[in-house]
Amino acid sequence: MTSTGSAGTTAGVAEDGLDVSRVRRDFPFLRARINDHPVVYLDSAATAQRPRAVVEAESDFALLEYANVHRGVHTLSQRATARYDQARERVRRFVGAAAASEVVFTAGTTAAINLVARSHARPLLRPGDEILLTEMEHHSNIVPWQIVAQEAGAVIRVIPVTDAGELDLDQAAHLIGSRTRVVAVAHVSNVLGTVNPIPVIAELAHSVGAVLLVDGAQAVPHRRVDVQALGCDFYAASAHKMYGPNGIGFLWGRRELLEAMPPWQGGGGMIEVVSFDQTTFAPPPARFEAGTPPITQAIGLAAAVEYLEALGWEAIERHEATLLAEATRRLAEIPGVRLIGNSADRVGVVSFVVDGIHPHDVGTVLDLGGVAVRASHHCAQPLMRRFGVTGTVRASFGVYNTLEELDALVAGLHEARRVFGG
Ligand code: PMP
Repeated sequence: MTSTGSAGTTAGVAEDGLDVSRVRRDFPFLRARINDHPVVYLDSAATAQRPRAVVEAESDFALLEYANVHRGVHTLSQRATARYDQARERVRRFVGAAAASEVVFTAGTTAAINLVARSHARPLLRPGDEILLTEMEHHSNIVPWQIVAQEAGAVIRVIPVTDAGELDLDQAAHLIGSRTRVVAVAHVSNVLGTVNPIPVIAELAHSVGAVLLVDGAQAVPHRRVDVQALGCDFYAASAHKMYGPNGIGFLWGRRELLEAMPPWQGGGGMIEVVSFDQTTFAPPPARFEAGTPPITQAIGLAAAVEYLEALGWEAIERHEATLLAEATRRLAEIPGVRLIGNSADRVGVVSFVVDGIHPHDVGTVLDLGGVAVRASHHCAQPLMRRFGVTGTVRASFGVYNTLEELDALVAGLHEARRVFGG
């Protein structure tokens, strides 16, 4: 975490981890002051800040090269199409996919999961079929399945979470069966930071002929993803969680599955031939990208991938592990603070409650000190019920956070206890 040297890119890398002061210079946002304090941004799990390289990639394209893709014969349109295709190729490499045609650009994780629920699962589901979820899912990986299950008369089953905040895999083995058609699991929990054992779950899903969708929204900024090594069938993620723009994400799907799926939205760009009697559809990924796609955002997403890869996964992981260990240790020392979950494999996310103080009140006092945390149910109400709370305070770390910033978090919590007597 110290600066012992750096690579000659905007993304500084030190031998023993990240050159954080250099990284911080890439994020002008971090110069902001909130309530007369330097901002301490501990809400990257909600949305990560963007480095200059990402915003500049987008603005350069928008100011100098902008045109629509696919349909133009003019030079600018051809260039824009090439840039859009390169962005897809960037994402292909980023997730270790076999082909760029397996990468569908979507509006984000939510849209990607809805696409699979609507287009893969819905036509396949019969009454009594089962969809297996987990107790730690974000609402984005619950509600789309519930909607199609209700339409089809299918049943939702749920893998429970242990006190440590891990999936109960013994229970999973009992819950999965010959009626299971889809298993949908978060790679990383947005509340607990737990990294789930996807290869084990993939084996379980495939042993009964089910497909596995992984919600990767919280994994992509923290861990190298290799969809082939994970063994899943679909992988969904959002650019805004990984230092990229909002309004874009992606779905990776196995080629044979995508090819068998009908479109979920109709429009320009996803057809081969249209007449009033009949339309034939383009192959994936175009089949699932009706209308003008988020071109500028795709270029921003590609720049975010480059930024992360230039920092290096080992350095990112080491930096975040240090922050997590230190945050966990220091929070546990504060009287009345109860940490939720303590999984063996975690990314930089800590959730906690403070005895006798509502999470919103904790969040408000922290905000007065310039510290941005999330205080809510985190779109994971079933998990809140599992832990017997209505909400938690969540501090989530990114590549730009420092150990010094934990001082502000800890000071704010002492202040909340003083103000509210917790
Ligand atoms: N899944 C998880 C685990 C998340 O944390 C989020 C974002 N909070 C989502 C899905 C939804 O992502 P988006 O809102 O970008 O579609």
